[in-house]
Amino acid sequence: MEMKAPRGTHDIMPDQSGAWQIVEEMIRRRCRSNGFDEIRTPIFEQTGVFARGVGDTTDIVQKEMYTFEDKGGRSMTLRPENTAGVVRAFLEHRLYAGPMPVKLYYLSAPMFRYENPQSGRYRQFHQFGVEVFGAPDASCDAEVIALAWGLLKDLGVEKLALHINSIGCPKCRAAYQEMLKAHFNAHLDELCETCHDRLERNPLRILDCKIDADKPFMKEAPHIIDHLCEECQTHLENLKKYLATAGIPYTIDPMIVRGLDYYTKTVFEIVSEDIGAQGTVCGGGRYDGLMRLMGGPELPGVGFAFGMERLLMVMDALGIMPEDDNTTDVYIASMPEEEARQAAFRLCLAMRAEGLRADVDHVQRSLKAQMKYAGKSNVHLMIVIGQDELETGKITVRDMRTKEERQTTMDAAVGTVLSMAEGEE
Ligand code: AMP
Repeated sequence: MEMKAPRGTHDIMPDQSGAWQIVEEMIRRRCRSNGFDEIRTPIFEQTGVFARGVGDTTDIVQKEMYTFEDKGGRSMTLRPENTAGVVRAFLEHRLYAGPMPVKLYYLSAPMFRYENPQSGRYRQFHQFGVEVFGAPDASCDAEVIALAWGLLKDLGVEKLALHINSIGCPKCRAAYQEMLKAHFNAHLDELCETCHDRLERNPLRILDCKIDADKPFMKEAPHIIDHLCEECQTHLENLKKYLATAGIPYTIDPMIVRGLDYYTKTVFEIVSEDIGAQGTVCGGGRYDGLMRLMGGPELPGVGFAFGMERLLMVMDALGIMPEDDNTTDVYIASMPEEEARQAAFRLCLAMRAEGLRADVDHVQRSLKAQMKYAGKSNVHLMIVIGQDELETGKITVRDMRTKEERQTTMDAAVGTVLSMAEGEE
């Protein structure tokens, strides 16, 4: 058997993880300043959480879930998205009994979908997302959009487009769906096989169909945005005003319906215009019906999910991938004899205690080989512990870049290294 990562998964290697960490830290900072707290839920849930919470007419539930029976005979599913699991946790821990709204985020959470892998589309990928519960107002839709938008700007992603739509509420959607059914019924023989099925179960999803997307009858289909009830219309108008206040440009895109059944009113996508087909980095919307659907109280929700891989792909394409500084602040080379190794190890620990990135040899290289290693690696300062240094306690700190050398003692070495390391900045 060839040992390879499963198809559609990928390793995040040490030369990549630094960029992930920098992006993650910026996300955390923005979430904190926006009043969001982190939630971490299990990567698998009872299958029913997703069947109900995502909707069993969706591609995700019908085709893409990693579902298995555990040893106790229970049906479990690796999470394909996180909203359903976060709602489950919110209900289980009765957060609805506390003050509203509850503002949560999750970061680099692994998701699993059995999809056809291609560039930017994986079977295991990671999402950053937020969920706000208990806030019905359009200002909250604008707040989550502004969070996503501001974050992308922080990260240097400039060419962005925000597409918004309203898919109404169960009241106005019911009448619209009848209209849609009548429209598509007139084109029954042109619909793809899957859409035949969707016609009865969830005609709105036909608008999402990739196979039928370019057929003329699709463009002639009625748009729900033209058939909203008063409440949904007002919500949309208010959202537009808040977006204007936030200075965020948008286009109304009546074709965004999103694949998930629980959305109500606002749906949106943020698309990077730099990487083509997989340019949708963020998708979200309002889901006022979900909490009830999952057995909880009638509480509104709004949120979004970012694909981390997509985001990093966009940043890479733009040449704005953050570079991690993996410089070793100080490398302490020593003679291979035990006494010198001990002294080097002690010094190394003292350096690390001050927050310096410090290293010593662990493979018993000769002193010369250690110096060569330090020369080739990304080392800023180097100390050599030989016989003289052991006997006198005096050592030299050498700056590998400027070649400057400073004399010091074993006891004062940390202070000298700190000042030389800082002097560089
Ligand atoms: P969704 O949960 O389908 O609304 O997706 C939210 C975001 O997650 C998308 O905009 C993508 O950035 C990302 N995403 C969704 N599916 C995948 C996938 N299979 N591989 C990588 N990223 C994905």
